[in-house]
Formats: sequence, C-alpha cells, structure tokens
Amino acid sequence: MKSKQKRGEIDAKRRKAEEWRRLQAQRAAEQRRLREYKIALARGEVPVVTSELAPSNSYSIPDFVERGTYRPEPFVCRDCGVAEVWTPLQQKWWYETAKGDVFTTAMRCRACRTRERARKTAARRVHLEGLARKKPSAP
Ligand SMILES: [Zn+2]
Repeated sequence: MKSKQKRGEIDAKRRKAEEWRRLQAQRAAEQRRLREYKIALARGEVPVVTSELAPSNSYSIPDFVERGTYRPEPFVCRDCGVAEVWTPLQQKWWYETAKGDVFTTAMRCRACRTRERARKTAARRVHLEGLARKKPSAP
C-alpha cells in the first residue's frame, strides 16, 4: 500500500512539473509575441482592430490578424505591371472601414483602380439603360 501511495505522489509531482513547463512555454510565447508587436509598431506598422473586421467563414487566419499589425505590402499591378506599395493605413481603411474581405489584397495601382472604377460605372450605366429600353412603358 505504501509504495502505491508513493507512486501516486510521484505521478502527481510529474504532472505538476509538466503543467508548470507548459505554462512557462506559453508565457514565453506570449512575451515573444508582445515584443514582436512592440517592435512592429515602432517600425511604423499600424495596429489591427479585430472587432472592426468583416466576419469571415474561413477557418484560417490572415497574416495581419495573426500578427496584429498592418505592414507595408509591395505588389505589382495586375493591369499595367507597375510596382506599388499598399500602405498600412490603406489596408486599415480597406479592411476596417470599407469592410473588405480579410482575404483580399491590393491588385491594381492607383491609376488603374481609378480607370477600372470608371469602366465599371460606365458598364453599369449601359446595362441599366439597356434594361430600361427593354421594359414596356408604363400605362
Ligand atoms: Zn496599374
């Protein structure tokens, strides 16, 4: 009986030690994340306000959400091929104010974006005018 009791004590001690190590590792990871976050802010990155983001059905988490900051994102315009940088404040506006999907990123430079918007507006107008023509006139 005595050895069984001792075995129990040893197991309890071991479990306690494992739990302690797990907590220490967790705390170290949290501190590392906090340190990286502070460095990112000092570098000029902008904090993400997660509560302002549009809800997403995806199980994966976008990098900027994981990191907690928006950082300058260089990209190449899909239309004209010019290299541009999507700034942290532009990203914040897109995701938090315009409620853009969290998995979308900048595709077109400013000039091409303006051109694309004008093209879409014109196409919509032509479409609506076409519909109006087809509709029988009101009695
Ligand atoms: Zn372009």
